Amino acid sequence: MAQAHIPGFSRIGAQRELKFALEGFWRGSIDEATLRDTGRLLRTRHWTLQAQAGLDWVTVGDFAWYDQILGMLALLGAAPSRFGFDPVHLSLTDYFTLARGGKDHFAMEMTKWFDTNYHYLVPEWTADLRFDGGVDWLFDEVREAAMLGHRVKVALPGPLTLLYLGKIKSGLSHKLDLLPRVMEGYRKVLARLKSMGVEWVQIDEPILALELDARWREAFLPTYASLAGVAPSLLLTSYFDGVADCAALLRELPVAGIHLDLVRCPGQLEAFAADWPQDRVLSLGVVDGRNIWRTDLDAVLNIVTPLHSQRGDGLWLASSCSLLHVPVDLAQEKEKEKEKESGLDAELKSWFAFGVQKLEELGALKTALNQGPDAVRAALDRSRAAAGSRKVSARIHNSLVKKRSAALTDGDAQRLSPFAVRIAAQHARWNLPAFPTTTIGSFPQTAEIRQARAAYRRGDLGHLDYLQKMREEIRFAVAKQEEIALDVLVHGEPERNDMVEYFGEQLWGYAISANGWVQSYGSRCVKPPVIYGDVYRPEAMTVEWSRFAQSLTSRPMKGMLTGPVTMLQWSFVRDDQPRETTALQIALALRDEVADLEKAGIGMIQIDEPAFREGLPLKQRDWPAYLEWAVRAFRISAAAAADETQIHTHMCYSEFNDILPWIAAMDADVITIETSRSDMELLEGFGQFAYPNDIGPGVYDIHSPRVPKIEEMQRLLRKAMEVIPPERLWINPDCGLKTRGWTETLEALSNMVRAACLLREELPGSMQSPAREFA
Ligand code: GLN
Ligand code: ZN
Repeated sequence: MAQAHIPGFSRIGAQRELKFALEGFWRGSIDEATLRDTGRLLRTRHWTLQAQAGLDWVTVGDFAWYDQILGMLALLGAAPSRFGFDPVHLSLTDYFTLARGGKDHFAMEMTKWFDTNYHYLVPEWTADLRFDGGVDWLFDEVREAAMLGHRVKVALPGPLTLLYLGKIKSGLSHKLDLLPRVMEGYRKVLARLKSMGVEWVQIDEPILALELDARWREAFLPTYASLAGVAPSLLLTSYFDGVADCAALLRELPVAGIHLDLVRCPGQLEAFAADWPQDRVLSLGVVDGRNIWRTDLDAVLNIVTPLHSQRGDGLWLASSCSLLHVPVDLAQEKEKEKEKESGLDAELKSWFAFGVQKLEELGALKTALNQGPDAVRAALDRSRAAAGSRKVSARIHNSLVKKRSAALTDGDAQRLSPFAVRIAAQHARWNLPAFPTTTIGSFPQTAEIRQARAAYRRGDLGHLDYLQKMREEIRFAVAKQEEIALDVLVHGEPERNDMVEYFGEQLWGYAISANGWVQSYGSRCVKPPVIYGDVYRPEAMTVEWSRFAQSLTSRPMKGMLTGPVTMLQWSFVRDDQPRETTALQIALALRDEVADLEKAGIGMIQIDEPAFREGLPLKQRDWPAYLEWAVRAFRISAAAAADETQIHTHMCYSEFNDILPWIAAMDADVITIETSRSDMELLEGFGQFAYPNDIGPGVYDIHSPRVPKIEEMQRLLRKAMEVIPPERLWINPDCGLKTRGWTETLEALSNMVRAACLLREELPGSMQSPAREFA
């Protein structure tokens, strides 16, 4: 009999219950007992859902108060030592201090979990860490599930992935130096689970999907040989890409089973199907844990039915990865009542499966294998109907869009003239001083702005009143920027709740759910829009706001767009066509927007790509293919601009040095980029590579209300000038200012402008402007 399980479930709750409980606890409005009750309630609910769907195991260990990697450190007693907490008696409050910082400690660093938008807390490896054991929370949860009568499978991040994802802070020459201690820690945890009667532990080693060097690969065999001796049966789990490269290694490991992500990499089944030992479990991730589409059950059954007759009990069906990465329950999506409301209609809902629906799909697949398809007729019919209507729906397929994408030529991705010619035309048009000052786009999103937007959505604020209100905000932002004497202005983005959702709402082919929340980190959730059809721009999206803003000033006003790669990366995307095709369609919509902005007299247009790097595949050998289409999509969106129209782009919070040639290939006239957190280290890369176009390294971090001093920014600018020719240097903050308050923003920007002025005075007279003559 085939079995079914999931690598993990979302913990935030269908109504974001955990988020609100956490935030209540941090504010002091609920006590720890109430918070713990909420956690217990959610775990109970999620296990019940798994059991009701007919899964054979409920997964324990996927719950986390903040993050599963921090949870693993707490379990092992390996929280960063600089906090000075007693590992064995770590309190929940200590745990939150690790995650969020406290008055004496800055928070642990946070970074993206592989290629997802989930952020984990980065372990801090120091020679003094002990791994001797920590909190008992996991064991309590196992007992909790067992008391409820569930069959328990525990899920844990694996020791090598844990080590790999941490950062060496001191006293170690290689992360693997810690392996003997980590292994001891895991042995203790696993032995204790076994003594509690746990039969299976799913041990996640997603690093297997990377291109590991020999030293890391070679660490697997001794590690698992040591763990297998004391542990319950181990299900070695990988996801987010294929592990066929490691097939031989996996066969050697003394584990009782492996889990493969067949959604991301269906081809890898070939490397395992024939000769994976019959007495070991093969868990196949066939339901997409990263996307919201209903599974094509027939297609899955075609693949797994022959395997089932060979393997029987040894075949497990699963979601490709933890359901942490999809919203919890489609049933929460009430149909939208008002035009402006978010929400999904019945047809869209018939195409989607969120977490709970994915459990049901797994239950149906398992039943179909064990009892024959007739036992799940209704589920198969629903799946067929969805697949069938998605193939033909006029909402999805737009022949105009398809024709236009197919007709694109290399010339369409090419600006009229090379950068040197364009920048000369742009200088002649604006005559900006050296070191032009600007901002990244958003200004403080005050409570007032958010209330007005919400009232408009509810229908409590009329259309004209809303326009009026937003125009007042823009007028205010423009007046302030003129007062401070910034050189290039922005309208401030008061009308945007989110830089992707705002465009998603206006483009055909995009749907915005009302409740499709996914945990991003801690209590923070995002609600990615869904791209379900060919993307088409029915009308201009930003032009009236920009035109109005420009009418208020004689200084250049930047139009503000979200780039094709970021639109793609921060949405749930179609699974019926390559990502690249969707990116190109978005690029075409943006290309028309650029043209309309230009026609409306907007001479500078910024196309933000903060998520450009996030799209990189896990395996470096796959990078060039991605970068090629990603760069092309950006260029398609920008290339129709005239020479004297200045195209800006913006990127932030990623490592850029290893993709600089590609960033240069995007050929934006100006890039503004976050750098101040790394004290301009990033710029060394830009200097060495000799980045050819204009560049604005962020001179202050926008994440803190702290107002940077003039001298600090001057120091950073001088550093920047060591690697970037002064005539190509812009001055700006790291990122948008929407999370800041006006008071600190105005002070910080005034200081920034002052720093620019002082620096200009140091330049030779000929370069001080207004007539910037060079090249
Ligand atoms: N233009 C956007 C803003 O200023 C850019 C945000 C981002 O880079 N994430 O808010
Ligand atoms: Zn940014």
